[in-house]
Order: sequence, then C-alpha cells, then structure tokens
Amino acid sequence: MRKGRRNRHRALLARLQRHLEISLDSLKPRRIRTRSARYAAALGERLGLISRPRACSWCRRHARLERHHWDYTEPLNVTFLCDECHVLADAMVVRAASA
Ligand SMILES: [Zn+2]
Repeated sequence: MRKGRRNRHRALLARLQRHLEISLDSLKPRRIRTRSARYAAALGERLGLISRPRACSWCRRHARLERHHWDYTEPLNVTFLCDECHVLADAMVVRAASA
C-alpha cells in the first residue's frame, strides 16, 4: 500500500474506533449512539470489514441496498436489504422491542 493510502486507511480505522465507542456509550443520547452506529457501519464497509452483496439478502432482488441494523449495540452487524425488505425488517425490530 502506498504511504498516502496507508495513512488514509489508518485515519478511517481511528474514526471507526471513535464511532464504535460512541455507539456503545450509554451516557450518550440514543439518537447520537444510533447515528454513530450507522456511520460506523458505513466506515466498516469502506474499510472492507463488511461486504455488500450484489442483491438483497432476503428477496435476492437487484436493487439499491440499505444497511439494516438489528441491534445498534452491534454497529458492524448489518444485513443488506432492498428498501421494501428494510421496511419489513424494521417492523420486526419494533415488534420485538415491544413484545
Ligand atoms: Zn429485498
């Protein structure tokens, strides 16, 4: 890896680390934690820690994919879903939380 790219990679890892910490910091408001969890997932994807499938993980449709979090305390645990499946998944999370 060239020096510039290596430094860039290291900076992204440091940023990921910071956002992972924020997302698990129970003293922070929930909206801040979830925002950091979403950002951490985006960084994880950029760093190649998470790989985006070619199609929706549920319906296999080739569409624009979104990262779905089942639990924001696991920022890098995401499922790639199309917008329609994402709505279903979010409804499941809401139902599970209120059960
Ligand atoms: Zn789908």
